[in-house]
Amino acid sequence: MDLSAIPLVDQHAHNLLRPESARDFAYPSAFTEGYAAEVVTRHVQETIFFRRSMREIAELLGCEPRLEAILEARERLGFEEVARRCFAAAGFEVILLDDGFMPDRVMPTEWHNRFAQVRRLLRVEFLAEQLIGALSSWEAFEEAFRAALHTPDPEVVGFKTIVAYRTGLAIAPPDPEAVRTAFQAMRQQAERGERIRLAHKPLNDWVVWQTLEAATHLRLPVQFHTGFGDPDLDLRWANPLHLRPLLEHPGFRRVPFVLLHASYPYTREAGYLAAVYPHVYVDLGLAIPFLSQTGMAFAVRAFLELTPISKILFSTDAHLIPELFYLGARWGRRILGEILEETVRAGDLTVTEAEDAAEAILRRNARALYAL
Ligand SMILES: [Zn+2]
Repeated sequence: MDLSAIPLVDQHAHNLLRPESARDFAYPSAFTEGYAAEVVTRHVQETIFFRRSMREIAELLGCEPRLEAILEARERLGFEEVARRCFAAAGFEVILLDDGFMPDRVMPTEWHNRFAQVRRLLRVEFLAEQLIGALSSWEAFEEAFRAALHTPDPEVVGFKTIVAYRTGLAIAPPDPEAVRTAFQAMRQQAERGERIRLAHKPLNDWVVWQTLEAATHLRLPVQFHTGFGDPDLDLRWANPLHLRPLLEHPGFRRVPFVLLHASYPYTREAGYLAAVYPHVYVDLGLAIPFLSQTGMAFAVRAFLELTPISKILFSTDAHLIPELFYLGARWGRRILGEILEETVRAGDLTVTEAEDAAEAILRRNARALYAL
């Protein structure tokens, strides 16, 4: 099934690195979530994702399918032209950018409007870290954080939390005493001039709780990082099944919970949650395009086993380099087309239903969820 005519809504991605910051990064590091030197210089090049992507990028840039030739072609074409080619080949209608990832090293969010309509996802841990750095009293922080969540920039269409990375998805109702103590500990770090990193469980849980309250009020979805990521993450606590108490909480029933990254490898678990809770959605990003074709097909099949088609969302989770937007778009359409064909052959869907499912997953579901 050829899905190239469907314009994509990429419901979760990140800003491109500025060309001057890109010099600090080895190109292969964009193809792995690992950051150990041996992973970036050696092991990543042994992955199927890297091997396959070198050929596809070389074809797009018109060079030999070797790392050195690609680096040379990127240098020759220049940052803007490489980005233009990637986005033109990808075919996005809307892109939602979480612009709280390496904020001082990336291109401004508005800059990306040349490629598609861009809307923002507010990364709540980044907001909290900025305010903790600026405000010394708990009362001032609490008020400023709540105010920022409740009156976000009009371009913000959803919140994003990386609590899975920091203290895990087993989020507890905040205990005011413990939250204040955690805040004081972070302020002491700030006063010692250390980098502020929100990783004190009571305060992280409080931040998520405040976010869910604001999201209820504003009727905005909340994206949760779930499943695999870089080794900062304890994968055991990134299983979306830990979210059950929040999903069952009567106060948060109207908040759409978006489980990112196919929750890989907990993909079936995520699909199950989206099947039984009306307010849970699942996303294919990072699983597409970082896995082998078998892995990407697994994620799409695992969702279609049980999850309503209206709950499945497409994204690239592209970051750092424009090539990841291209690869995510290419493989999103291709794998989805292949698996939907399979469902038609099996008699699970009619051709018309499969075509409609493709349009829903690649575009319509996200447009409805974020009121785009
Ligand atoms: Zn992301």
